[in-house]
Amino acid sequence: MGKQQWCLRVNRQGAETVRRALLEEGTLDKSLKIRPDGDELLFPVISEREGSMMAEFEELYQRAPLPRHELVGGIAILAEDDPAGAAAILGDRPSVHTVLFAESAVEGEFRTKRFRVLAGDETTATIHTEYGRTFRIDLEKAYFSARLASERQRITAIMHDGEEVLDMFAGVGPFAVMLAEKAGMVWACDLNPDAVSLLIGNISRNRVSNVIPTLADAADLPEVFGRRFDRVIMNLPLMAERFLPAASRLCRPGGTIHFYALVGDEDEDTPLLRRIPSRSMEKRFVRSYAPGRSHVVYDIVVD
Ligand code: SAM
Repeated sequence: MGKQQWCLRVNRQGAETVRRALLEEGTLDKSLKIRPDGDELLFPVISEREGSMMAEFEELYQRAPLPRHELVGGIAILAEDDPAGAAAILGDRPSVHTVLFAESAVEGEFRTKRFRVLAGDETTATIHTEYGRTFRIDLEKAYFSARLASERQRITAIMHDGEEVLDMFAGVGPFAVMLAEKAGMVWACDLNPDAVSLLIGNISRNRVSNVIPTLADAADLPEVFGRRFDRVIMNLPLMAERFLPAASRLCRPGGTIHFYALVGDEDEDTPLLRRIPSRSMEKRFVRSYAPGRSHVVYDIVVD
């Protein structure tokens, strides 16, 4: 059952011009659906006017705006503790099975957060898809963020076929599994046993045969491997600085270290970077993190 409203009958040829003019005037009734009538279109207007007539229109579904959230697989993470908003997200997004609220900031060596389920299934685990690869993640057990997806693509694009790559802080494996497409071999290390366990599952889930999972402290990797790599990934923002000396021992001359950091817009580069013998160093903006703070990456070609 539609709604009766005043409307203008408009020739299809000039319809777009009329639509824009009505929008500009603020007289188009946006709650109703414009509809055809023979060769012409009927534009609902908010009140009677010259040349207008009454007709029946279908009402447009007006969605209330959903609260701000981040999507990771089937999990929506809400910025606010808002159970009503969580229920609205669950009802509105068929792919979402759980809505979480983070009860803590990123904490500890494993860089995880504590979550509370606001709506949906009682879980912090889900399957996330990135550029055709799938990852099982468990947000309370191991760190994961979808926000560096385009960084992983950038690095894959600049890699040469057959490179030997070391991911020092691999988590559940998004860099390692993505980079495996071009690499000869990727060694993926993490200190968190849950992360390594999820990583092992993600390697087989994606049928990747050239990623080697390693449970180890990054500080020990020069001794663990006793060799150098073509490319070293350091994705441990705020805490990776102290591992720079190890990374420079692990990267071959001419190889590249990708060092991720969260920096203030006015901050100087950490002096530790100058201690790495390098042929070149390029600082790139990755994404905005907070007002005045950015996620950046230093691409360092080692000497
Ligand atoms: N690269 C992954 C990603 O993009 O999702 C994970 C990055 S997360 C920010 C950093 C990871 O480093 C965590 O999984 C944490 O467990 C691991 N980590 C922290 N300290 C470490 C250490 N000393 N040695 C090895 N891994 C460490």
